[in-house]
Amino acid sequence: MDKLTKFTREELACPRCGKVHLCDRYSVINVTEKPELKEKVLLNKLFVFKCDACGLTAPLTYESVYVDTKKKLLFYLTPERTENTEKSLAMWEKVDAGQKRIVTSLNDLKEKILIADNLLDDRIVEFMKIEHLKQLEKEIKDDNLLDILFDYQGNQYYFMLFFEKKGIGRIPVSQEYYRDAEHRYSSRIGRRPGDRFMEINMKWAGDIVFKRN
Ligand SMILES: [Zn+2]
Repeated sequence: MDKLTKFTREELACPRCGKVHLCDRYSVINVTEKPELKEKVLLNKLFVFKCDACGLTAPLTYESVYVDTKKKLLFYLTPERTENTEKSLAMWEKVDAGQKRIVTSLNDLKEKILIADNLLDDRIVEFMKIEHLKQLEKEIKDDNLLDILFDYQGNQYYFMLFFEKKGIGRIPVSQEYYRDAEHRYSSRIGRRPGDRFMEINMKWAGDIVFKRN
């Protein structure tokens, strides 16, 4: 399996004004080979459609594999799992990597990158989110919590909260809390699973916390 960056240049008509643009569609993004692509992903400059004629900016998420050869990361972005996805996943499964993940959105991909940048275990982070749900009980009753995402600034970790009505909020998460959670959950998750693709999200953590108790 070739792990190097691969893209095709495709014509894409603007859904608003019809102007045809040439867009680069990446099937493989290798950020060890092309570090600038990592920045583009994080700044929402890669999975996006921009029309210079009418000004439309719209997210453009498609199936793509994010590879960090140096950090041994393989993140498979798939908004929609099809038969072809499964075939492609089976091929990528043969590739050696320390961490293999399936993500379904650009935000989830970005979160995995940020977690890996901080050398944290994404499974522990998902357990911490589940614990935060209890603290947010009252707010969740009044508003719909759409998502919780890890973020950081310098040495400070955060959880970004996305509420339907209230919008975006941010709560600080201490490094001590992470270490504590790591200690408490380590027996539940065993060693770091690297050789198989996993979808690690709040559903995964919730299933372990609520169903196995
Ligand atoms: Zn347009």
